[in-house]
Amino acid sequence: MGIDTVAIYSDVDKDSLHVQLADESVCVGGAKSAESYLHMENIIQAAVSKGAEAIHPGFGFLSENPQFAELCEQVGIHFIGPNSNSIKLMGNKSKAREIVVKAKVPVVPGSAGHVKDLEEAKSVALEIGFPILIKASAGGGGRGMRIAYDIDEFTSAFQTAKTEAKNAFGDDTMYLEKYIVRPKHIEFQMLADKYGNVIHLGERDCSIQRRNQKVVEEAPSLISEDLRQRMGEAAIQICKAVQYENAGTIEFLVSGEDFYFIEMNTRIQVEHPVTEMITGLDIVKEQIRIATGEKLSVTQEDIILRGHAIECRLNAENPKNGFRPSPGTITLLHSPSGNGIRFDSFIYKDYQIQPFYDSMIGKIIVHGVDRTEAIKKMRATLEELVVEGIDTNQTFLYMLMNDRDYSKGNFDTSFVEKKLDSLLEYEDYD
Ligand code: ADP
Ligand code: ADP
Ligand code: MG
Repeated sequence: MGIDTVAIYSDVDKDSLHVQLADESVCVGGAKSAESYLHMENIIQAAVSKGAEAIHPGFGFLSENPQFAELCEQVGIHFIGPNSNSIKLMGNKSKAREIVVKAKVPVVPGSAGHVKDLEEAKSVALEIGFPILIKASAGGGGRGMRIAYDIDEFTSAFQTAKTEAKNAFGDDTMYLEKYIVRPKHIEFQMLADKYGNVIHLGERDCSIQRRNQKVVEEAPSLISEDLRQRMGEAAIQICKAVQYENAGTIEFLVSGEDFYFIEMNTRIQVEHPVTEMITGLDIVKEQIRIATGEKLSVTQEDIILRGHAIECRLNAENPKNGFRPSPGTITLLHSPSGNGIRFDSFIYKDYQIQPFYDSMIGKIIVHGVDRTEAIKKMRATLEELVVEGIDTNQTFLYMLMNDRDYSKGNFDTSFVEKKLDSLLEYEDYD
């Protein structure tokens, strides 16, 4: 787009590839995220000092923080995302449920809004019926969530989830949902401009999860055309209800031919490349255009889905040791490349992975003419990838891609947990 870029980094991320790729860079503080990536004033100051016209918030940290979006608005810097009001409305997951109910889209049966205290939670749980999923209104990344199978274990599960939410998000407001057994996680990629035009770029299946965190994502999903139509329309309804603008994702659980809204992510997501692969659109480019006030460059009819794409999240962790994070120095790296193969990462040979942030070190994305070809291509790509010096989940991902039930499309959100033993049945060669 011909736009100059300024990267921000914390002390320990000085050598990260994104810093080297950007035109300019600014250090925004120390390793602790509260002192750097979550420090709003430091980031705004960096932007002002470099004369930046816009800030892209990425997909963690301040990306769903309405105060930060507001701060950008106040200093006259475009926040590349929705306006602070829609972040406020949808960022709180229990409030979002209320809005969605009003928009006449089905939600998972659960509490109306948040629950005040343990006593109220217990009586609502008995009304809904077990199993119950206790969730944090501020939740994200699978944290602040616990299942209770009966009333006896409810109290301790409620307290644990609450404590985890307090520590992770500084907010322990809780709500309840019926625990849906063996659903699929299907989400729609949305785009909306400032003039009320809303479209979707099809859906992704993100059912391959570990501890409610995504591991593998693909597009399109294997749902029926009728369900795709109904869910796509519902997702558009939801965006219209909050006058949404920019990119966002509406997440649903699917059970048979029924679907239920679970949450909206008011930002770009980790797995957006699979949608880019099958639509040919660059979602970040669309985000920038929308933020500057341009109309959507495409209509719903223009969106044609081509082929099939799969993304694997490469983590610095040891699956055989309870997926424990494994920071350290990359002694050798061969990143796969080729037609329809993409490797998004910040690492390179001799790079030292820091222990301070998320353990995800890269995303491997492939595109094939159909699902069978995409799976074969992912297997070949994972064989080609070489990362030495640290433990990664590379072979674990390879085992997933070779699982017959996965290949046949027989999977739901319980897949990884159910198959864990067989997925870990591989030899370590180093
Ligand atoms: P996606 O839905 O795109 O998979 P995730 O929910 O996994 O997104 O989160 C993307 C990134 O943002 C992850 O690195 C995750 O750890 C981080 N993240 C998500 N929610 C929060 C939060 N509330 N506070 C801090 N980091 C978060
Ligand atoms: P987060 O904000 O952490 O991404 P979500 O509400 O999106 O949390 O849920 C994350 C995952 O947890 C879902 O993809 C799904 O696998 C599981 N999950 C969430 N709600 C339910 C539910 N009511 N029943 C069964 N599984 C659920
Ligand atoms: Mg989610």
